[in-house]
Amino acid sequence: MSGLTGFDLHGRSAVVTGAARGIGAAIACTLAKSGVGVVVADILDQEGETIAGALGSSAIFRRLDVTDEVQWRRVLDDAEATFGPLAVVINNAGIVDFGGVENESPAMFRHVIDVNLFGAWLGMRLAAPRLRVAGGGVIVNISSTAGLTGYSGVAGYVASKWGLRGLTKAAAIELGGAGVRVCSVHPGPIHTPMTADLDASVAAGQPLPRFGEPEEVAAMVGFIVTEATFSTGSEFVLDGGATAGMTLNVPS
Ligand code: NAD
Repeated sequence: MSGLTGFDLHGRSAVVTGAARGIGAAIACTLAKSGVGVVVADILDQEGETIAGALGSSAIFRRLDVTDEVQWRRVLDDAEATFGPLAVVINNAGIVDFGGVENESPAMFRHVIDVNLFGAWLGMRLAAPRLRVAGGGVIVNISSTAGLTGYSGVAGYVASKWGLRGLTKAAAIELGGAGVRVCSVHPGPIHTPMTADLDASVAAGQPLPRFGEPEEVAAMVGFIVTEATFSTGSEFVLDGGATAGMTLNVPS
């Protein structure tokens, strides 16, 4: 029986989308500590430069709108030229919509699907051939508990996150033979700029009645990348137990 070897990231490159702040920034920091060179990719130039600067020679910032194929190609080229063959892509960039099924504008619905789902597909489409050539790699798609259940008022977001979960499985099946693992991550409420307007009541009924921290998501992503070497097409949930069930305040 062979011993556990993990996935060696040294001399290889990673791209983390939406990495200028929030969960993506925490993932970039965690991966950089694993020895992989990280491209902090985002549409927020100043914040992205700050995160990459804090990581020193292990990271660079590159502007990337995930819906733009030309920018994706440039970012992947720069990742490989700077740090070595591509090993990891984290599709984390995401936006949330408001309005629900009846009131959301068609433009907003399309935009959410474009960033959260099409953008991740585009990244996978362009990264997969490089990961094949490199002999294998890992793609992690940051979905949500909104990809496991429904929520009111955020129809486009829910649709995009269910789509990303399904896309993960399709890609895992196609790429497994090339040694490329593809997994989805499903966080519950996490303290980031995206959730700044939500109050604590959102998490109150969870078995663990609190918001998570970006570093907790990053730790799971780091585990998937370096340790979960027999997992692909899998869903990794970190939601304070919310999808196990919520506490009901009924008379005892
Ligand atoms: P955030 O808003 O703090 O960060 C999202 C980042 O994505 C920002 O830096 C933003 O500039 C970037 N981004 C937006 N559109 C982009 C585009 N077109 N191209 C490239 N980058 C773009 O949000 P966050 O909470 O850190 O969310 C990160 C991911 O985690 C998202 O996919 C989100 O849906 C998911 N998520 C978040 C939570 C939560 O509670 N915060 C829960 C579940 C899932």
